[in-house]
Amino acid sequence: MVLMVYNTLGKRLERFVPLREKEVQMYVCGPTVYDYVHIGNARAFVVADVVRRYLEYKGFKVKLVCNVTDIDDKTINRANEMGTSVQQLGEFFTEAYLKDVATLSVKEADVSPRATKHIPEIVDAIAVLVDKGFAYEAGGNVYFDVSKFNGYGKLSGNKAEALQMGARIEVDPKKRSPADFALWKAWKPGEPGWYSPWGKGRPGWHIECSTMATKYLGETFDIHMGGKDLVFPHHENEVAQAEAASGKPFARYWLHNEWLTVDGEKMSKSLGNFVTVQNALKLCEPWVLRFFLVSAHYRSPVDFNKEALKVAETNLARLLNALERFESLRETKVQGKGEEKLLSDIRGVKGRFEEAMDDDFNTALAISTLFDVAKSIFGYLEGSSEISAKTKQEVSKTFRELVSVLGIEAVLAETRTEQVKLVEGLVQLVVDLRKEMKERREWEDADKIRRRLQDIGIELEDTPEGTRWKKTHKK
Ligand SMILES: [Zn+2]
Repeated sequence: MVLMVYNTLGKRLERFVPLREKEVQMYVCGPTVYDYVHIGNARAFVVADVVRRYLEYKGFKVKLVCNVTDIDDKTINRANEMGTSVQQLGEFFTEAYLKDVATLSVKEADVSPRATKHIPEIVDAIAVLVDKGFAYEAGGNVYFDVSKFNGYGKLSGNKAEALQMGARIEVDPKKRSPADFALWKAWKPGEPGWYSPWGKGRPGWHIECSTMATKYLGETFDIHMGGKDLVFPHHENEVAQAEAASGKPFARYWLHNEWLTVDGEKMSKSLGNFVTVQNALKLCEPWVLRFFLVSAHYRSPVDFNKEALKVAETNLARLLNALERFESLRETKVQGKGEEKLLSDIRGVKGRFEEAMDDDFNTALAISTLFDVAKSIFGYLEGSSEISAKTKQEVSKTFRELVSVLGIEAVLAETRTEQVKLVEGLVQLVVDLRKEMKERREWEDADKIRRRLQDIGIELEDTPEGTRWKKTHKK
């Protein structure tokens, strides 16, 4: 089947064909480590993780680079506010970020390069642009001359608008044009600085990403991802820097996820509705948050609110319940009634799941096919309490594989151990109550409990050290 992706560059659905057969190189803009990751950031990382997982499911070997911006205006301001160094602040929030995304089952990137560890490469990249006439120095700053790069505006779409927006963002009288953007910023007191041919200073944000992407993935690579808010100016500027330097196309497919709102409003610190991943996890389990984030197509806006989390929780519980109950079916050697239908249902779902994901990673539709599996399973459970080992294995393996593409497989193991603990606690409670009955000489009731437990497959053994229990296999 053909994978189609919506490419922001060109604004259309395109057939995805990687540069190298069976290999995909992708770059995702990582966090600026000046604060905890919020759920809007988390959406971008989870979306990229689903893209990566699906490509791997399709048999591609994926190399994923996700940077850490540990030097820019925000990190400097925050470090000064907090009375700490930019380095310490960066280390603290990098660790917090890695922990948060791991909690959301985002697989670790192959490379997570830090900007401050790539200053020589960044300086070299800027020097190339200056040599080629695409950049100029002005008072210790180095600017990219937007007028020299013909393709400027091709990613965000509207060149004139892009230039106007650029003009509103940075105003420096030393710039040749208001739309030019900084590659290198001259040192100011209270800021970290590195030496360069243009004097002491630090890199601009955009050049960090294009330099690290090129270093680890090459001048031209397959996929560049990030939130929609990064299209302009960040990604537009990345394209300009990289393509002006190499003369070759930079990223071939640009995938951008839509906004995440909170209770219908754009999330912002000033509105006071800034929800960090850690705060969101006070409202729900990590897998519920993850499931909520993947329940919408990545190019649709999503609204984070309590009701939506509740819906995600209920839906996810239904899927897990189907799988748990199915996997605890007794196994038989021969295939029984209803198994053929179940097998054909699951094979059909696998096909439709892939079709949905091949259509620009339509997770919303893909999830709806999983509910069809759940429905078939519940239908089967109504008529039977056993299944052949062969059918059980195929259905369970396929279900688990599809769930893994969405990254919610961790919950399967997790809920299982939680349930086991719960069962153990409950049985112990019954055993303790029975002991008290025996102490009160209520033999008849104590025996009744033993028999009832036996009926559900739990055997009690009274020993001089106390009562032990074990699970028996029901015949
Ligand atoms: Zn970036």
